[in-house]
Order: sequence, then C-alpha cells, then structure tokens
Amino acid sequence: MTDFSQDAEAARWNYRPENPVGLNPLFSWPPRPAAVLRWYRGAWLQLTSLTLCLALAIATYAWFLPPLEAMQSFAPGWMVRVWLLNMVPQILVAGALHWWLYMRKGQGMYKKFDRRDLTQDNGTFTFRNQVRDNIWWTLGSAMTVCTVYQWLIYWVMANGWVPTVTWAQGPVWFVVWLFFIPMWSGLHFYWVHRLEHHPKLYKHVHAVHHRNVNIGPWSGISNHWYENILYFTTYFIHLVVPSHPLHLLFHIYFQQVSPILSHSGFEKIKAGKTEAAKTGDFFHQLHHRYFECNYGTSEIPFDKWFGTFHDGSAEATTRTRAYKKQMYT
Ligand SMILES: [Zn+2]
Ligand SMILES: [Zn+2]
Repeated sequence: MTDFSQDAEAARWNYRPENPVGLNPLFSWPPRPAAVLRWYRGAWLQLTSLTLCLALAIATYAWFLPPLEAMQSFAPGWMVRVWLLNMVPQILVAGALHWWLYMRKGQGMYKKFDRRDLTQDNGTFTFRNQVRDNIWWTLGSAMTVCTVYQWLIYWVMANGWVPTVTWAQGPVWFVVWLFFIPMWSGLHFYWVHRLEHHPKLYKHVHAVHHRNVNIGPWSGISNHWYENILYFTTYFIHLVVPSHPLHLLFHIYFQQVSPILSHSGFEKIKAGKTEAAKTGDFFHQLHHRYFECNYGTSEIPFDKWFGTFHDGSAEATTRTRAYKKQMYT
C-alpha cells in the first residue's frame, strides 16, 4: 500500500489505486510464473476490454462480416457494411458508458479517478464542448481513417495477395496469433505515441487527444487526422503475418473499443452492489494528467525500460515534471 499523505497531488484525485501501478510480470527477472498466471487470468477470464473485444469480434465475424469472396473488388455494399461495423459498436459502447457514468451518474463517484466533471463551454475544445469535440474526432476522423485501412486490407486478403490462415489449416497458430495481437498493438502504440510526443508533432497533432486531461469514454480515440493515419497503421501487420479476418476484427475492436473503456475515467463498473467489469486504466490516466510518462501500455513495460514509467507515486510525478521541463527547454 502506498502512503499518499506526503503527496501534494493527493487532493486532485477522487480515487486512485492503493498500490503502485502494476506492469506485466512476464518481463520480470527472476521469473514470477504465479504472478504471470494471475495477470493473464485477470485479463482473459473476466469481463475486461480484452474479453469484450474478442466477443464482439466473434459475433461480428459470425453474423455481420461479408465473406472474403465478396470483397475481391471495391463495391459499396460491403464497404458500407465495414464502415457500420466500426461505427455501430463505437456508438453503442461509448454512448452507453457515457450515458451511465456521466449523464445518469449511475455509480456516482465510485472509483472515478478525477474529481472534476467533463468540460463544457471551454474554447479549448471543438464546438466549445468536450463531449461533442470527442464525438466528432472519433466518429468523423478516427472511424473514417480506420475504415479506409480496413477496406484495403480486406481487399488484399480477398484477392489472395497476402498469406492468410484458417482454423482448419493451423488451429495452434490461429490461437497464438490472437493471443499476441494485444502485445503487437502495445508495441506499435508505444513507438507511434512516443513519436507524437515530439514537441513539434505534439503541438500540431497529438494535442487534440490531450485536450482531455480529465478523460471520458468518448476521449478514447478522439484523435487528429494525422494521428489516426499513424495510429491505425497497426492493422497493416495483417498484410505481413498470416491472418484470418477474425484476427483483424479482434485487432480492430481492441484498437477502437478498448480505449473507450480505458479512457472511461472509472476504474471499475458497478452493477448493483458488485463490480461487474474492469474498465479504467490508471496507467494511461496518469499519462493524461502528467503527459510525459506512460507512453505505452502495462502489457509491455517499455516505459520502465526507458525511464518514463509513472507508478502513481509522488516521486514519479517529480521525475516526470523534471523530464517534461528538460524536453521543452
Ligand atoms: Zn500522449
Ligand atoms: Zn489517451
């Protein structure tokens, strides 16, 4: 348990985890197999962003995704459907979470990190309103860029120009690759995100995402056009690594829907008196509060390796502020 009594920042949080932010123990030395098992059990065997995205991907593949044969040439039917398969889950998940947590205030301040409510009537935001700003950058910019990339990838896959895989051809590879997609996504995200924090790129591009110091569900992929063009290049791995459309769908929802949860601003979602789902991600919440820390995810500890890890402590805040000052002077 951390002693917060000496932390000048304590009053700024409504809630924060008692223990320092955890990182994937898979990379710990000496090895900690029991902790690794606990980490992956926690991620895959409860209602989390991973399991929600996998369920979404399976349901979409089974019921809604057009067959690859239909995608061999560009035609409005399947292309509109791919766009809707991005838009509808995004609107439903972000809309429902926003409504429950911020409009209905269904669990009050329970496990809400930031004390403040979302911002209204503030000229920093497009339309002078944080939620409308976030909805525009998500549904306008992000959904457009990701859809165009997906059209290209499905089209290339459908024409057999890249190696693909089916369950029958390689069930082991099928599962292994599915399991590694979040790790690939974390690796890609770390480097793209670091690049976006270059002072020049930050000012003109990434600042749109960072208008949200206090984040909400719609902030997840509320990104500038150029940021989306970079962020969604993660999908092009499927042109190199043999994949099935289900891999791409899981990747898509992990990249698009899980940020809704991780930006929800609440650590857990309560249903009745029980905690029903893990949502918020204090690791990334700290990135939005202090900027020059926690560029990656807790899945691969790049931040620890490169000295930018913020574990929530007062010392880490001091170190982050010194680093930021040095970056901008
Ligand atoms: Zn950032
Ligand atoms: Zn963010």
